[in-house]
Amino acid sequence: MNDHILIRYGELSLKKSNRNQFIKKINNHIERALKAFPNLTFEARGLRFYIILNGESELPIIPILKKIPGIYSFSVVARCESNIEDIKKLAIEVLKEKDYQNAKFKVDTNRGDKNFPMTSQEITKEVSRELFRNLQGLKADVHNPDFILNIDVRYEGTFIFTDIIMGLGGFPAGILGKTMLMISGGIDSVIAGYEVIKKGMDVEAVHFASPPHTSDMALQKVVDLLQELTIYTSNQNINLHVVPFTKIQDEIYKHVREDYGITVMRRMMYRIAESLANKQGAQAIVNGESVGQVASQTLESMAVINNVTNMPVIRPLATLDKSDIIEKSMKIGTYDISIRPYEDCCTVFVPKHPQIKPKLEVAINEENKFDYQTLIEEALENTEVIRLRSDKKYEVFKTEDLF
Ligand code: ATP
Ligand code: MG
Repeated sequence: MNDHILIRYGELSLKKSNRNQFIKKINNHIERALKAFPNLTFEARGLRFYIILNGESELPIIPILKKIPGIYSFSVVARCESNIEDIKKLAIEVLKEKDYQNAKFKVDTNRGDKNFPMTSQEITKEVSRELFRNLQGLKADVHNPDFILNIDVRYEGTFIFTDIIMGLGGFPAGILGKTMLMISGGIDSVIAGYEVIKKGMDVEAVHFASPPHTSDMALQKVVDLLQELTIYTSNQNINLHVVPFTKIQDEIYKHVREDYGITVMRRMMYRIAESLANKQGAQAIVNGESVGQVASQTLESMAVINNVTNMPVIRPLATLDKSDIIEKSMKIGTYDISIRPYEDCCTVFVPKHPQIKPKLEVAINEENKFDYQTLIEEALENTEVIRLRSDKKYEVFKTEDLF
């Protein structure tokens, strides 16, 4: 009976001229994400998109649809021909599936088929009458119903449903271009990545690894975190650029004033992230910085660190409380990975008293104590790329091999 899923799109009204392109993107994403279900067929009709189940259960499909950017909401619907007798029969069937004796309901009819011989009020009335005639203990409440029996009368058929499942919202994956996500093994940066993907941007990711100060397990943690985001992307994969950062970090430790260690280290990270972004055609850097969270995230620190690049830096978590970020990470399912105990490179050399109000001249003076340009070039040359895929098959390349 519930043989279709009806998809509704999100923020499309904002972009009237791009609407068709947006819709196409989402529809393609849906088809790709559901490749594992060969029985499904798909039907696009203007502002609506139907997945026809052809006997497939909707249960494994629902969680996949909840991870597709640009879907505002969707419903599992039952379809019949657009004539009043069939509509009445199907409405009874749909209500029988509900626990209708313990809830008050109302009928809501939407008549998209302007050739249908009855008005929407007439349909609502006639169907309601039929329902009361056939179902014992049915209770209606038009002002404050517990659920609504929606009847959607359209040229292509009539669709009846009671539940609306909310989707991710946002924009179609990748439609707004590409960004370079700085990802650590912590709680924040993976959530920053989730936010930009949801908002229509693709990500390449960069991670700074400092073996032997950091372990393989620390890198594995980053891989596992990023893996969780692949399902939201349009291509179902994300490239992770792993930058060998040990030499740079050791030189900083050797030469730079202790309280400026983090400031200088983060300037190096931004330089490398920008350079990778340019190579990969990414137009912005994304990170998990949140104002005030740690010493390097005061406005003064952010200014001195950000000074090495003109590229836009997107900080989706800038004003969120840590508790809100944690809540999101639990919801998305990354929290348990993030709290595994392995250190990442920032935590290895944390000074006792990091600068919370660094000065730009001092930072420049400190970093000029070693030849960071050469070290950055070397790090970029030795960067490896792991392509993470939603089917969990990894591929490993050197950066140049991506072109
Ligand atoms: P997170 O929980 O994301 O690790 P944090 O609160 O621990 O963030 P920092 O360690 O100061 O804060 O890092 C701020 C941001 O810098 C991170 O959110 C991430 O985007 C980036 N970052 C930190 N360490 C790394 C790393 N090893 N590789 C790549 N990016 C990093
Ligand atoms: Mg961190």
